[in-house]
Amino acid sequence: MDGRDGRDGRVRATLLIVSLVISGCSKVLPPKDQVIALEGATLIDGAGGDPKPDAVIIVRNGHIEAVARVNEIPIPRGAERINLVGKTIIPGLIDSHAHVERWAARRYIAWGVTTVRDLHGQTDSIVALKQEMNLGSILGPRMFVAGAMIDGVPTTYPNATGVATADQARHAVDLHAVAGVDYLKVYTKITPALLRPLLDEAGKLRLPVAAHLGKTDAVTAARAGVVSIEHMAGVVQAATGDPMYASAHNDFLTGWTAEEKGWAGLDSSSVARTARALAQTKVVVVPTLVVHDMLSRLDNPILLTRPGMEDVPENAESVRSVPSLLRRTGWRPSDFDAFRRSRRRQDQFVREFRRAGGAIAAGSDAANQLLIPGYSLHEEMSFLVGAGLTPLEAITAATRRGAQLLRADSLGLLAPGKVADLVVLNGNPARNISATRNIAMVIIRGRVIRPDSLRATWK
Ligand SMILES: [Zn+2]
Repeated sequence: MDGRDGRDGRVRATLLIVSLVISGCSKVLPPKDQVIALEGATLIDGAGGDPKPDAVIIVRNGHIEAVARVNEIPIPRGAERINLVGKTIIPGLIDSHAHVERWAARRYIAWGVTTVRDLHGQTDSIVALKQEMNLGSILGPRMFVAGAMIDGVPTTYPNATGVATADQARHAVDLHAVAGVDYLKVYTKITPALLRPLLDEAGKLRLPVAAHLGKTDAVTAARAGVVSIEHMAGVVQAATGDPMYASAHNDFLTGWTAEEKGWAGLDSSSVARTARALAQTKVVVVPTLVVHDMLSRLDNPILLTRPGMEDVPENAESVRSVPSLLRRTGWRPSDFDAFRRSRRRQDQFVREFRRAGGAIAAGSDAANQLLIPGYSLHEEMSFLVGAGLTPLEAITAATRRGAQLLRADSLGLLAPGKVADLVVLNGNPARNISATRNIAMVIIRGRVIRPDSLRATWK
């Protein structure tokens, strides 16, 4: 101890002289280290490792410097020490399927979501929002973006990029690359004939492609090289081989309705066979069970007042416009009955895909109807556990798997050298997954944030 103190003293004296010399020359002082010691919590690493009790995490300048058991390593002098006995620390959550709106930025942080994978927005404005968040000019999660999704023609949404030929598909990929997107998203009207040149061009530019397809079944898309299947789209087509689904997707809602009902008619063995075929391709599935569940209960007005909705502004049309969606879909009670019967098969698919070694990432699809930015990712974790994942697997789906999908190795894992985005929970989610919703503290970019104080800024 003494010897080290002596050495520290000499180092400090040297540093003082160096800094005096520097300040004498230029008046610029070196930045001060910010060190935080998180002591005594149970640590869940995000990669499926066993929870480690009595952990200490040293955070220096926004990165994890050390992870150990209490008393195994010295606490650096000058560290801000935070006693977390009785609490659990998990990595900052990653929402792998988001549509980020400006008002939602701080909501994500309050719910412990420190990274979002945005999967469609007007390209220029979504790239601008990403830059504002990533540079820290507005408080929000780290953001990765697809820009506008690429669809067939006519496009389902007016702000999508429509392509009708192989050349147009390649050109759309190039335009997105120039605009600065991180990956691409392809949508329901993209056929196998358009998907192939699109993937070829994206491969040259090293842009991963996320797929919510309707005219291309999930196994065909995965074998062609998409990195993710969103909403389990195209699984029913792959399981049945029925061309009816492809033609239903001439119209988005007709296609979604047919596919959503189609799950109920699948038998158990074809679900298992399709899950195994997909797992072999190494594609990541982002099931968004919370979307399927919410849409199967869209006729239940209670969902508009469930916990979490208090964080959604009254004028947030995207989340609250349930009556207009009901009118647009024309769904009747028999449709909702079918959707609810389908949920069992969707859960079975998730279970079989996992059993076959497939990678599952958690995504919410917020801020679409009834889906609450931040909160709905916790609902998704609960649905994944309902489908048969363990709580630790659900947490991995919402942390490390999301980072892997983003090819962002420094995220989603509590280990030395990684970014110190993390969430402190009051309870232990390894026992009960709903404990992820009870958040004491969030750390992002070296900032310690209490959800209650953050909520006070918009209430
Ligand atoms: Zn979406």
